[in-house]
Amino acid sequence: MMTNRDTTTNEEVTATGDADAATRNATTVRAFEMSAGGEPLRLVSRPAAALGGGDVLVRVAGCGVCHTDLGFLFDRVRTRHALPLTLGHEISGVVEDAGDAATDWVGAAVVVPAVIPCGDCDVCRRGRGNICPTQVFPGNDLHGGFATHVVVPARGLCRVPGFTGDVNAPLGKSGVALADLSVLADAVSTPWQAIQRSGLGEGGLAVFVGAGGVGGFGVQLAAAVGAAVVALDIDDARLAALADHGADLTINVRDRAPRDVRKEIAAWARERALPRTEWKIFETSGTAAGQTLAFGLLNHGAYLGVVGFTLDKVDVRLSNLMAFDARAEGTWGCLPELYPSALELILAGRVKIAPFTERHPMSSINDVFTALREHRLQRRPVLIPDMQ
Ligand SMILES: [Zn+2]
Ligand SMILES: [Zn+2]
Repeated sequence: MMTNRDTTTNEEVTATGDADAATRNATTVRAFEMSAGGEPLRLVSRPAAALGGGDVLVRVAGCGVCHTDLGFLFDRVRTRHALPLTLGHEISGVVEDAGDAATDWVGAAVVVPAVIPCGDCDVCRRGRGNICPTQVFPGNDLHGGFATHVVVPARGLCRVPGFTGDVNAPLGKSGVALADLSVLADAVSTPWQAIQRSGLGEGGLAVFVGAGGVGGFGVQLAAAVGAAVVALDIDDARLAALADHGADLTINVRDRAPRDVRKEIAAWARERALPRTEWKIFETSGTAAGQTLAFGLLNHGAYLGVVGFTLDKVDVRLSNLMAFDARAEGTWGCLPELYPSALELILAGRVKIAPFTERHPMSSINDVFTALREHRLQRRPVLIPDMQ
């Protein structure tokens, strides 16, 4: 998830609900809280929120750090819930307790979607849960995953098969552990939804502008559906990593004009008898330069998926969409029903997590935020709770 939205909810950080539930669910949560913009996150203890009938208490195995978290802490992006708040929306873990309507989940290994639609309103019923006005976004609407435990709705949880009880043990032949699967909740699922919407499939040509966390997984997902994949970035190390993981062509686009890049891709496609129209272009850099480049790559019938977020503006000739009979579309989060297919690709080893993530103890959260902000990390950090 790349930004905040200005909808608000009335959910309380700490539900004070009925006394029975509060008594039953007496788990003490150790969590890092954001109390004010730019201030270091503070370790606190608090009782877990009371479980509503459809809620679960998840013991966090891992929580990925997203640029959206940096936006909340450093860039004055407002959280929908008032501060203090525990951030973190890329959560995997094990269900330890559940409300009366969700007891089937107890003991299950799960990934918690970053966007949890209500499933019941008009837009949800029409398959548009991404714009559900009462959607729940952990670490924004309620306390998130930079904690030992999190209380979230059970609806939308993605069950992880093959879990043996050890959060650090490899699942299936993928070698990936439950903790690392946290990145499914945003970095993997967000480009997956964009790919689904674009109609990309076998024989198609996909171009990713920005090969960082989200774009890097997007490249692998596009390759997994049988497309030829082009990765564009300004960082040679990132491009080299993707050359071994799904990218058929990598181009360092630093100081390159969009028109030149488009010509280079077109020539490459022609040589290989790949599509020369209807490219699926995904803007995953979240920069103005990347957006300008992505728009400049449009060809006839192209699809432009706007996945990254920036507050900056770009100057484009919007009529190119008309001239090329092309489409441009944004994408917010990922519908929970799309998670299992992405998880399957990971567990089958077709989308690799390990080369693109690195684990850190959660107690080093402030150092990790700073390092990420200063672009000192090549991989997406996953924080492992180590607070006593
Ligand atoms: Zn995110
Ligand atoms: Zn809804």
